[in-house]
Amino acid sequence: MSDLLSSDHRQKYKPLFDFIRNAFPNEGMIPLHEPRFSALDKQYVNEAIDSTFVSSVGAFVDRFERQIAEYTGAGYAVAAVNGTAALHLALLLCDVQPGDEVITQALTFVATGAAILYCQAKPVMVDVDKDTLGMSADALRNWLENNARKEGGGAINQGTGAVIKACVPVHVFGHPCRIDQIRDVCQEWGVKLVEDASESLGSFYKGRHTGTFGDMGVFSFNGNKVVTTGGGGVIVTNNERFAKRAKFLSTTAKQPHPYEFFHPELGYNYRLPNLNAALGCAQLEQLEEFIEAKRELAHTYRDFFNLAGMPLAFVEEPLECRSNYWLNAILTSSEQEKTALLEAALNESVQMRPVWRLLHELPMFEGCAHDGLTVSIELSRRLVNLPSSVVQRP
Ligand SMILES: *Cc1c(COP(=O)(O)O)cnc(C)c1O
Repeated sequence: MSDLLSSDHRQKYKPLFDFIRNAFPNEGMIPLHEPRFSALDKQYVNEAIDSTFVSSVGAFVDRFERQIAEYTGAGYAVAAVNGTAALHLALLLCDVQPGDEVITQALTFVATGAAILYCQAKPVMVDVDKDTLGMSADALRNWLENNARKEGGGAINQGTGAVIKACVPVHVFGHPCRIDQIRDVCQEWGVKLVEDASESLGSFYKGRHTGTFGDMGVFSFNGNKVVTTGGGGVIVTNNERFAKRAKFLSTTAKQPHPYEFFHPELGYNYRLPNLNAALGCAQLEQLEEFIEAKRELAHTYRDFFNLAGMPLAFVEEPLECRSNYWLNAILTSSEQEKTALLEAALNESVQMRPVWRLLHELPMFEGCAHDGLTVSIELSRRLVNLPSSVVQRP
């Protein structure tokens, strides 16, 4: 019986798998997202090795930070060992203390919530907008109006008495959320804003780069992101004090001195190695080319789903945005449809995946406060990511 069903589904989705096979040059399995490397990447990595500066100091780290600041238009960029560490540092810089509350969204990768727990703070999860997949400014405002009061320039949760220190919206799959509206709400309530822009390097909202609206923005350079350093992250900010302190805390809080080792407080070994930064410098030179290819792929997906007559709707970039289309996504008509498609993809050696399990359903976030998450729950039942690697034309 189940064999019959799956063969039905194989027929039903055949045009989609044919389309995907045709879009990618891969012979066997088609991965969800694989990195692209060129001679330039190898050249810069070799230069780093030849310089002997492979660890946490070196010319490529400074150059990488300058390139990121220039590209995003941020005043400062501080590289870190990965995006999760960068998020942790950013929250520490917002003075997030044990017992404080931090507002985020449930529809995100676990790292967003983990960084809040590293600070021993309590996550509060508000709903997302259906069109952007990112935090809803209305949901944020409603939650604050229903639960918080303004006091001493900040926000206090009236139920728990805790300080609501920061807000961490996410630009999901590279699609910008309504970050200007979110910023207005945060400013009105005296809540610090850290953008989890891990997935959105190259994505602009109303002409301005994501990650540069808040007090800080964080990007990731993991192997599956739009450009990679192997592992890496960065904090961008316009606040010089934050930038200096991010660098200090990420380099074991060591006071600069030619030979003395003095650490006035507890720091972290969160600095990006020069070897990884070398790869990052080369990858950044190719970023616009990658995004052009990704946007072209997204447009062919969009046109395919508009014509295909399948119960699958392509998720398009929000209005007034340029998305990097890091991961292409579709909304299936139902949870059953999603499962059928994922099973068929497994059978076809095409990597598709459902959106992450919502954070409030994970054991580590059990009992966390949330606003009902109506849209997040609906999306999590139906969202599927499609193969999205850069396809290089000869
Ligand atoms: C990738 C990612 C991170 C963390 O990045 P790492 O570099 O893997 O630590 C954080 N948040 C989101 C939404 C991500 O996609």
